[in-house]
Amino acid sequence: MDLNSKLAVLDKIYRIYDNFAGTLNIACRRYCSLCCTVNVTMTTLEGRKIADSIISEEKRYLFEKIRYAESQQRFQPLETINMLAERCLEGDDIPEEENIFPGECPLLFNNECTVYNERPFGCRCFVSRQNCADNESASVDDFVLTVNNIFMQVIEHVDAGGFSGNLTDILLFLENSENRDNLLSLKMINPSSILIRNHNLKILMIPPEHRNEIQPVLDSLNRLKY
Ligand code: SF4
Ligand code: SF4
Repeated sequence: MDLNSKLAVLDKIYRIYDNFAGTLNIACRRYCSLCCTVNVTMTTLEGRKIADSIISEEKRYLFEKIRYAESQQRFQPLETINMLAERCLEGDDIPEEENIFPGECPLLFNNECTVYNERPFGCRCFVSRQNCADNESASVDDFVLTVNNIFMQVIEHVDAGGFSGNLTDILLFLENSENRDNLLSLKMINPSSILIRNHNLKILMIPPEHRNEIQPVLDSLNRLKY
């Protein structure tokens, strides 16, 4: 699949998820941005969509904010969701990752997302039944967590050949036009070990109690023939 086809599939995946999220009873509202932290992670395919929008809409100043965020402590995952699924398949323990107290996302301005239409899946799926400000954390239904994992697995699979990592690290990587142009080739330069190679999907992480309920969502994803 070429890059444009992958970006088109990503759009469709976002649409399917946004439709699903539209059926949920959640407290998330415009200008509610406690969840917009520097800890967001994504794939290079999602990052390419954001980087293209920043460049084409003359929001290049955002790269200054992203560079500043590079000096901040942030969550930098060691494994992708499909790597974790493979561990489960093999019966291995899931390693604990360090919990970083997060600063603000560099793409947030006046409590609004500057790339809202292109925001990555990690932001689309961060929904809460109760206002986080009232409860000091998000409250998410177990079934929604299962659905979220499935979508993350599929997005990583579609971006096979690309990388996953922290939003700041991915966007700085994609600020380089050569990396943007070479997104699907082995010519991409991984600037350091902070980005992780994406893995193909081998097994979906669906607990037995969610297998029936999740089928309509799976059917919609399967129709994409990713
Ligand atoms: S997840 Fe929490 S902080 Fe984020 S929009 Fe929803 S209620 Fe607000
Ligand atoms: S990309 Fe947008 S929605 Fe996601 S954390 Fe940053 S400001 Fe919030």
